[in-house]
Amino acid sequence: MSIFENTEIAFADRSTQQLNKAYWMFKSIENPALTNVGISILNFTIKNNFPFVKGIVKSTLFEQFCGGETREESIAVVNKMWKSHVGSIFDYAIEGKADEKTFDEVYHEILDIIKFSKGKEAIPFVVFKPTAFGRIEIFEKVGKKEQLSADETAEWQRVVDRFDGVCKLCHEYKIKLMIDAEDYCMQDAADDLADEMMEKYNKDFPIVWNTMQMYRTGRIEYMEAHLKRAREKGYVIGYKIVRGAYMEKERERAAQMGYPSPIQPTKQASDDNYNAAVEFVMQHPDIISAFFGSHNETSMELIMNKMKAAGLPNNTPHVFFGQLYGMSDNITYYLAKQGYNVAKYLPYGPVKDVVPYLTRRAQENTSVAGQTGRELALIARELKRRKK
Ligand SMILES: Cc1cc2nc3c(=O)[nH]c(=O)nc-3n(C[C@H](O)[C@H](O)[C@H](O)COP(=O)(O)OP(=O)(O)OC[C@H]3O[C@@H](n4cnc5c(N)ncnc54)[C@H](O)[C@@H]3O)c2cc1C
Repeated sequence: MSIFENTEIAFADRSTQQLNKAYWMFKSIENPALTNVGISILNFTIKNNFPFVKGIVKSTLFEQFCGGETREESIAVVNKMWKSHVGSIFDYAIEGKADEKTFDEVYHEILDIIKFSKGKEAIPFVVFKPTAFGRIEIFEKVGKKEQLSADETAEWQRVVDRFDGVCKLCHEYKIKLMIDAEDYCMQDAADDLADEMMEKYNKDFPIVWNTMQMYRTGRIEYMEAHLKRAREKGYVIGYKIVRGAYMEKERERAAQMGYPSPIQPTKQASDDNYNAAVEFVMQHPDIISAFFGSHNETSMELIMNKMKAAGLPNNTPHVFFGQLYGMSDNITYYLAKQGYNVAKYLPYGPVKDVVPYLTRRAQENTSVAGQTGRELALIARELKRRKK
């Protein structure tokens, strides 16, 4: 039996009524064909403002995977999780338009989250997505070192200013800031910018944390070169280590554009690369801090063992674990109980705006991806235990 099987710990925060609801929700998204039909209906009805649909979504998918429609509404979830020493990372989950007005709105929302999180132990990180601050195409052009027009130069400067604005405020408040990783085509420019921010704001404490997707080839080499640069220039590194979320899209794009796929050839190769990143981080605790974002139990156990071997205490400020809200509570709550630093991404936003996020979670949780069976078995076991 895995160390993460204790359902009494995993679901300590969930009432029996909530568990029953979660059971039926996971059960109904178990079938991929039905889920896809459901998603099409959901997108249509939400787009056309069918009022009763919002209510249904809010009390099912939304309640399972989101904290609330606003930060204030989500704070009840933050406080509840913190009672079990599980932190929250507010994730502004709306997927809006890629225009300057929207970038500015999101930028100000992130600044507000930073102010809101100041001094709150229950919120150990703030996070943002690079493409929430600028068009993907401009990141791509900058990454390829292509010549920019005068307008594009000004546009890129606005992206840089937004990055700098959030990093600067986090530095002032001593709040850790994570930058999500996205598509391969824009990641070079995002990495360079993240590194520039680390050099500026991570002089003695990891304020800025960039994300490494280990399903990509060449990431260990990037980290080795980065470590060398950080030592030379005198700053510390913060990384979020994940496997990566855009595998199919990346492979398709590479095939379409005729370049070699940037993704590891097999799941095993991604797993091995993830393990190599764990090893790498553990070898340099003096300079690298890491947040391991994963729902993979084997990875989590490996990290725990490596921490022990490296002589790091469970609550070292250099290592965090993280899962998404509504998923893998068995991992999160077990780690918290053992005194590790652990936090969940807590998405929030108006119901209709977080639908794309929710549909992705539903798709990822169909039986094909495998997560649902696991969640269902754990919930069923806990419900049975409570009946005894
Ligand atoms: C807190 C948190 C933050 C996250 N932030 C980001 C982020 O900023 N950017 C981002 O891209 N993702 C992010 N993710 C998602 C993450 O990258 C994974 O998609 C997701 O967590 C599933 O991987 P896993 O390690 O949990 O589990 P597993 O189920 O063990 O791994 C699934 C992953 O393995 C890889 N994989 C599967 N099949 C193959 C194959 N045939 N060949 C090669 N590789 C394969 C893929 O990356 C797939 O997502 C985040 C996840 C969490 C929990």
